[in-house]
Amino acid sequence: MVVHGDCYPSLRGLSLLQKVWRRIAAFIQTNDRAYLHRTNHFNGAPQRLGEVQSDIRGYVSELLSKALNKGSLDSTINKEDKEKLLEGLKGWGVLDTSYRYVKSHETGKHRGYSVYPGGGLMPDAKPSTPIPMDKLLDSGMWSDIYTNYTVHVHQPTMFQPVGGMGKIGDAFTRECREMITFNAKVTKINQDETGVTIDYVDSNSPDSEAKTVRADWCICTIPLSILTQIDINVSAPMKQAMAAVPYDSSYKVGLEFKRRFWEEDEWIYGGITYTDMPISQISYPSQDMFSSGSGVLLGAYGFGEASYKFNSLTPKERINAALAYGKQIHPQYTKEFRSGTSVAWHRIPWSLGCYGIWSESSREQYYETLCEIDHRIVLAGEHCSHIPAWQEARYYPVWMLPNAYIKRPRNLDS
Ligand SMILES: Cc1cc2nc3c(=O)[nH]c(=O)nc-3n(C[C@H](O)[C@H](O)[C@H](O)COP(=O)(O)OP(=O)(O)OC[C@H]3O[C@@H](n4cnc5c(N)ncnc54)[C@H](O)[C@@H]3O)c2cc1C
Repeated sequence: MVVHGDCYPSLRGLSLLQKVWRRIAAFIQTNDRAYLHRTNHFNGAPQRLGEVQSDIRGYVSELLSKALNKGSLDSTINKEDKEKLLEGLKGWGVLDTSYRYVKSHETGKHRGYSVYPGGGLMPDAKPSTPIPMDKLLDSGMWSDIYTNYTVHVHQPTMFQPVGGMGKIGDAFTRECREMITFNAKVTKINQDETGVTIDYVDSNSPDSEAKTVRADWCICTIPLSILTQIDINVSAPMKQAMAAVPYDSSYKVGLEFKRRFWEEDEWIYGGITYTDMPISQISYPSQDMFSSGSGVLLGAYGFGEASYKFNSLTPKERINAALAYGKQIHPQYTKEFRSGTSVAWHRIPWSLGCYGIWSESSREQYYETLCEIDHRIVLAGEHCSHIPAWQEARYYPVWMLPNAYIKRPRNLDS
């Protein structure tokens, strides 16, 4: 199966990706052909993202034009700007000469057609019909757009290492193999005036005798969900900061199908469908498009409440649930399913969760302490960043380490 992921869209992250793993491919985050889906609206029929977006733009433009033309906003906008705005709204919202958003060949150019333009003696093109505004608002689909698509971290095109996100870890392993002790499960971290002693066991035989390693300093990247359960002698403020960050829960289900029906039947090439069902989303692969034979979808990926439900199921039950929900969007699931797999991050012993959750107040109270050097121990990892749940987040604390050393280290007994 192919793992896929996307990369936080900052120049620093991209240049790092280039350095460690040169084979980079585009990852399509937003695709107008993907769907928005609400179980109790439109008789459960999924709606194309591009159509919903066009309609929202149209109705908002129509209403704003109405207010402008009535003079309702005259106290907030001058005459010249009003004219410019009206002209822009007419084009942006695809409004007719009376500033109305109604089905027309022009709207067809934006939201698509029920009969697409062709050639020869093919039937005439027919524009598709906009979704009535009240139905659109009732469905709440608008929230999917501003929650998932228009946020900075989900730009329409992202990047992924060819072969999956795991290739980044593989690249670091290739470069630093000699420095790594594999399968070493840390059980105790003890610092004193002259250094740090780490106790660890072989994670493949946890009952084997514990080993010890000693160094002058310790950069610890163990997630806080685990570190807080390890015997570690850091200062009281650091202990408090470590305990102040709960971890979110997340799950994914990968589904393999005999053919890429989302491409062949529904013209969906990459992108993500969002739904209010517990699977939360279906993500279509950005690689191997147009290939024949089987293909893999991300058939479920959720956080929080939905995640607790999935986490309590067995792996087989998770796959069955993803299939049962997903076929409401893609009826082809039943006939085309081949195999599946799932991960519930709360149940992974070496992460016990997905990412550290910070609130504004916990950041204010604990973040700086967590990132400071504590005598001879300093923490690194995504939990020491402002971009939780992104790979890039794990590198910033290490890049910032020289700054941590400049600051006065907190003493053991402070
Ligand atoms: C479901 C999910 C989806 C994600 N999607 C994306 C994405 O699309 N794009 C993106 O950029 N990022 C994504 N991320 C985020 C990214 O994977 C993390 O931010 C990143 O892996 C955090 O790096 P880290 O080094 O802080 O922690 P980790 O990668 O969790 O590394 C911690 C390490 O500590 C080890 N460890 C744990 N306990 C012990 C112990 N007792 N002794 C020794 N070692 C121990 C673990 O084995 C692990 O190797 C996703 C994360 C999740 C969970």
